Amino acid sequence: MPKVLVIFGTRPEAIKLFPVIRALSAIPGLTVRICVTAQHRGLLDQVLAIADLVPDIDLDLMEPGQTLDRLTARLLVGLGDVMDAEQPDLVIVQGDTATAMTGALAAYYRKVPVAHVEAGLRSGDIYHPWPEEVNRRIVAPIATLHFAPTDTAAEALRRETIAEDTIHVTGNTVIDALHWTAHRVAADPSLAAELDAIAARFAGKRIILVTTHRRENFGDGMAAIARAIGRIAERDDVAVLFPVHPNPNVVSVMDDILGTRPNVARIEPLDYPHFVRALGMADIVLTDSGGVQEEAPALGKPVLVMRETTERPEGVAAGTARLIGTDEDRIVSEIFTLLDDTSRYSAMARAHNPFGDGHAAAKIAKVVAHAVGL
Ligand code: UDP
Repeated sequence: MPKVLVIFGTRPEAIKLFPVIRALSAIPGLTVRICVTAQHRGLLDQVLAIADLVPDIDLDLMEPGQTLDRLTARLLVGLGDVMDAEQPDLVIVQGDTATAMTGALAAYYRKVPVAHVEAGLRSGDIYHPWPEEVNRRIVAPIATLHFAPTDTAAEALRRETIAEDTIHVTGNTVIDALHWTAHRVAADPSLAAELDAIAARFAGKRIILVTTHRRENFGDGMAAIARAIGRIAERDDVAVLFPVHPNPNVVSVMDDILGTRPNVARIEPLDYPHFVRALGMADIVLTDSGGVQEEAPALGKPVLVMRETTERPEGVAAGTARLIGTDEDRIVSEIFTLLDDTSRYSAMARAHNPFGDGHAAAKIAKVVAHAVGL
């Protein structure tokens, strides 16, 4: 029986791979094994629980404050050992994390083919996002199957002389995850009931959903974001819903600068059903996240991106996203303009699906099955 080993370690990878694992598991005659590195322990476990996934191998490699060198070295050795034990016919990695990069490299050292989900995202700047831009560029020449979410991503791979017959444009699996989860929450609202109290507290206000965690924004950028949120929340007609990423570089700045304010709900990171509900409640999304830039347009939520560049230009091209950087005054003025200028708001609030139709995982599973001889 052909065996596929799916490797991931962080929350966004788990969200974007669970639809693929579900689709692969439905293929008769295919063995699917799941290896998690637990690069983000708590956030990863939230997704595993919701998606009913039980890893076959859990490397639990998270160490507080570990350097990128140390993490990379431990991942490479750990994943190599797993591959020696499992002897997979194909390895699947997703996106641009250290787990994806080392998983691809360990497979290459064993001459095991690699399939890359969410291939071809490029900002063109190796320090934005850092180190993800280089992680994903390292996976590209190794992978033998490239699942590009959009035509733009496929075009970037062609420019890097990746062979045309190995590139498959599938849409982004995050849209599959979003639809699946939104249906589950609609059928069973208790899955996202922890937001009921916040929804009641903020009734009648315009809700701004904030997420921030990018390494490039640590330090001055994070401080500017905290001050901007404080100024925005001074308006009576506004409420800020802010699930705070557990990274100490985020939490400490929010403690010191933002503090506690009546119009701000600073809460723990939400599990995926709750986050999907939060997206539904939001009027505006303010984020530096990659995945959230893809989800917000699919729900018709204007998204202001606190980054200088984006490897996801499709949202900007579709008119749902704007790149605004991390200057405090700019963040405040962009939010106020959207709140006060109805025509600007409606122009951005049209639902677009530039990132996929929700059927990416089925397409990927079909190609993978064929590649392992099924
Ligand atoms: N997300 C979540 N709970 C939260 C914040 C985000 O489930 O409290 C989800 C979000 O829907 C998206 C993913 O996490 O699918 C994005 O993860 P993150 O922003 O950490 O990483 P990035 O996408 O920037 O790599």
